[in-house]
Amino acid sequence: MDSNEFWMWLAPVIMLPVFFAMGWFAARIDMRTVLKQAKAIPEGFYKSLDALVEHKSGVAVRELAEVVDQQSDARQSTYELHLTLGKLYRQRGENDKAIALHQRLLESPDTIEERRDNVTFELGQDFQAAGLVDRAEQIFVGLQQGSKARAAREILLNIYQQDRDWQKAITLAEELSSGEQSYQFEIAQFFCELAQLALYQSEYNKAREHVFQALAVNRKCCRANMILGDVELKQENFQAAIDAYSAIEKQNYEYLSLIADRLYDAYDGLNKATDGLAVLIGYAQTFPQLDLISVIYEKSFPIYGEVKATETAIDLVRRKPTLTGTYRLLGVLQNSIDAKWRVDVDMMRSVVGLQMQKTVMYRCRHCHFKSQVFFWHCPACNKWETFTPNRIDV
Ligand SMILES: [Zn+2]
Repeated sequence: MDSNEFWMWLAPVIMLPVFFAMGWFAARIDMRTVLKQAKAIPEGFYKSLDALVEHKSGVAVRELAEVVDQQSDARQSTYELHLTLGKLYRQRGENDKAIALHQRLLESPDTIEERRDNVTFELGQDFQAAGLVDRAEQIFVGLQQGSKARAAREILLNIYQQDRDWQKAITLAEELSSGEQSYQFEIAQFFCELAQLALYQSEYNKAREHVFQALAVNRKCCRANMILGDVELKQENFQAAIDAYSAIEKQNYEYLSLIADRLYDAYDGLNKATDGLAVLIGYAQTFPQLDLISVIYEKSFPIYGEVKATETAIDLVRRKPTLTGTYRLLGVLQNSIDAKWRVDVDMMRSVVGLQMQKTVMYRCRHCHFKSQVFFWHCPACNKWETFTPNRIDV
């Protein structure tokens, strides 16, 4: 082995501790950085996070408030922490604290540009949560040019709906409508609200005008044709009422059950009650899911008498047995059945009726809110046209 070969073998052995030492130093430096960063995050922050995970928002808010105070004393930037703390206060209903916090933050010289918009937006939400809707509205109107413009308009739209200020809601929804999100359902419903109001006030032409505005925005708007039918019925334009109500079949037949009795009344106004009844029976046969049995039975009774009315109802229930249908059927049978069974049938009807009250309801398809009353605007999730138009077994 010459000296060159000797060094070639020995060099790695000599260098090994050097490499080892370099690795050790590198790891130490990394660990130091990590520890330094960890020390920079106060313990209270972790406690607050932990409390949030455990759904103890009271503890979370207390710990975070302490962290914010300590950081402020140390003159460190606490902008993000302030925003989080403000949201926590609001979530817990401590709106006065949230308002004070955001107002204080707005006074800080560091709160400028986008930060200023964000804090103002939070303050608007605080006022809204505190029920100071006028002040909230003022704030959101002022934010319509900056970085929070769209979010502010979306909240404003909710405020206008709560205030039933439909004209303002229409203007804003039109501004918000864009390729990615169209507000056509909502705008048509706002026009329907105006039409409904005009109908209550017997301003029939105004009501018609709003109905046509609703249909121009959303030609599938069943409610518009319902209101138009009501306007024509009120003015005894029976054929026009029939045309308006019947148009719903092509828009969305599921809504027919909501106007069945009024459609019949329009036919009755033309002295064509039997035609009206035939139309309803036709609907029930074509669309068995419609909730029409009760109205058909009630309208057939005076025209055809008890026996035929009963036969028609029984036939419809047999086509699609439901709790509502069974309840109606048992009521019908009570009159025609042998006296010794009457008490039992009455008992069965009560049981079915009780069950029906508990489980047969209108339901919001968006948030699953259930109700015995139909709503165009869900009181729980504020969405429009999400209620099932027929009561269903929920
Ligand atoms: Zn809902």
